[in-house]
Amino acid sequence: MAAELTHFIGGKHVKGTSGRFADVFWPMTGEVAARVPLASKAEIRAAVENARAAQPAWAAVNPQRRARVMTKFVDLLNRDMDKLADRLAREHGKVIPDAKGDIQRGLEVAEFATGIPHLLKGEYTEGAGPGIDVYSMRQPLGVVAGITPFNFPAMIPMWKFAPAIACGNAFILKPSERDPSVPLMLAELMLEAGLPPGILNVVNGDKEAVDAILDDEDIQAVGFVGSTPIAAYVYARGAASGKRVACFGGAKNHMIVMPDADLDQAADALIGAGYGSAGERCMAVSVAVPVGQKTADALVERLIPRIEGLKIGPSTSLDADMGPLVTRAHLDKVKGYVATGVKEGAKLKVDGRDFRMQGYEQGFYMGGCLFDEVTRDMRIYKEEIFGPVLSVVRARDYDEGLRLAMDHEYGNGVAIFTRDGDTARDFVAKVNIGMVGVNVPIPVPLAYYTFGGWKKSAFGDLNQHGPDSIRFYTRTKTVTSRWPSGVKEGAEFSIPVMK
Ligand code: NAD
Repeated sequence: MAAELTHFIGGKHVKGTSGRFADVFWPMTGEVAARVPLASKAEIRAAVENARAAQPAWAAVNPQRRARVMTKFVDLLNRDMDKLADRLAREHGKVIPDAKGDIQRGLEVAEFATGIPHLLKGEYTEGAGPGIDVYSMRQPLGVVAGITPFNFPAMIPMWKFAPAIACGNAFILKPSERDPSVPLMLAELMLEAGLPPGILNVVNGDKEAVDAILDDEDIQAVGFVGSTPIAAYVYARGAASGKRVACFGGAKNHMIVMPDADLDQAADALIGAGYGSAGERCMAVSVAVPVGQKTADALVERLIPRIEGLKIGPSTSLDADMGPLVTRAHLDKVKGYVATGVKEGAKLKVDGRDFRMQGYEQGFYMGGCLFDEVTRDMRIYKEEIFGPVLSVVRARDYDEGLRLAMDHEYGNGVAIFTRDGDTARDFVAKVNIGMVGVNVPIPVPLAYYTFGGWKKSAFGDLNQHGPDSIRFYTRTKTVTSRWPSGVKEGAEFSIPVMK
């Protein structure tokens, strides 16, 4: 009998009451490992009430003490790293070292949030006019929410709640219903770190819970990460109820390989960035763009044996390159894209569809696939596949490669591999994509910079983590003060100006 998961509201595990559940699988074996409750509107409301009651006292805790909770949380993450990574790997499918990376990149945002006393400092102008001082301060919004995807069940929840909570907000997290255990474990650790009950609530659910969050008038801001159609929907519905909303969507990340690049390095980079986590990353490279026929032939020649030699293993493996995909439905979708690519006329150079994992025959596995001679009009080029499938689109020259990346509707990440500084500099300046790598295939910014794409990869105007997250989870109040020594006699009827 599969375990029944809970919500985490007011500092306690709470059973679901809606009567609706979803199955949670272990992708490496294909078994149903747990059932997760899907919250009703009433359950979201209960979480919001708890958060609303707890938030003012938390906002009144001084920033240094709030920072100490984050410091302790970071210690606890390190203490429990193996346990968290094991559960994460089992539910998501990614292998253990990659699961640890997922936790680590979230932990680093919690570390960034330990700087909150400094990050919240306002501005001050003494003597802006006669006896007049002006200052601004950042205050928390109140209750805020995060809705997160399946592919980084530790990192993205932490990207959301760590800065929000450090700023003095209370948080409602609605994680992916496909791998909800680690977010619940993170909430337990925050409580152990000294966070008051009610400041971090985890409510599991699907569209019903999301809609309840978007319509709830007591929730002031929503951060979303997931696919582009849902990001667009969340952005519109959340904004319609007057919330601050930032939504991050899908991707189709290109890697331009110039003729002067070290092709062995470029091939290795493509393999890691294309097939790590079975391609289920928003920063995965899914399109390789070699420049010139000679470069293309030499690159494809290097890619084929590397893809055929990928070490695929169970999620619990310590040394496999990749594990299974998240669900059977997603596996079927990715294989469907491979069939579409063949029909569209792309050359399938490596076909991993028939891969079976010995001893794990019911797991959601496939091997790496490589398409060559993919063109702009093909669905496999236009759409996000989110699996271990790399497409090679051959470009005649640098301008064509640059144009290709720029014309694509997604604009999350992009990379260029070259030894030529001028070309790299031109690329960085011109490309209309949010995160750019120069000889770096996955340019995920560090915690103290901000993360976000352009074009259809993001909706809203502030990014995730780094300084933008502090702006997103606070509002500015500006105070103009004058003391009697500066007051002139008589009423002033014109708009005040400083002379
Ligand atoms: P998804 O859009 O299916 O789900 C994301 C969240 O939305 C989940 O919490 C889910 O429960 C909820 N949701 C799903 N359908 C909904 C609906 N109809 N109405 C309201 N809410 C709904 O995404 P996913 O499959 O979990 O994650 C993969 C996607 O996320 C990929 O497109 C990937 O590129 C993207 N992603 C983007 C970033 C980024 O920062 N840009 C980072 C990671 C993942």
